[in-house]
Amino acid sequence: MENQLIEKFKKRLEKAKREIESNLKILKKPPEFGEDTVDAESFESQEFANQLSVAQTLKPELEEIDAALLKISKNQYGVCEKCGGDISLEILEVAPESRLCKNCKRQK
Ligand SMILES: [Zn+2]
Repeated sequence: MENQLIEKFKKRLEKAKREIESNLKILKKPPEFGEDTVDAESFESQEFANQLSVAQTLKPELEEIDAALLKISKNQYGVCEKCGGDISLEILEVAPESRLCKNCKRQK
């Protein structure tokens, strides 16, 4: 892939990362905030439950973005993690953090 394109996707990924990180910072984190052990219904505050579900959506997104940025730094950006083929630009335009090519995505 051309450096210019990689640079463009990198900027998009970094911007998305900053947005997610600032969103996560806004969300209040109680001390018992855990990974998978939290039962949202056990909390009285509906508002907190909402914040929790937002955080739980954002965290995996952040991990995807980090993985994509890592691939950029290793010069493997745009390479399918399953078959090693190229991920088409149309997929990356929609979701720059994509790890799989069209075919492998369909099989999943
Ligand atoms: Zn593939």
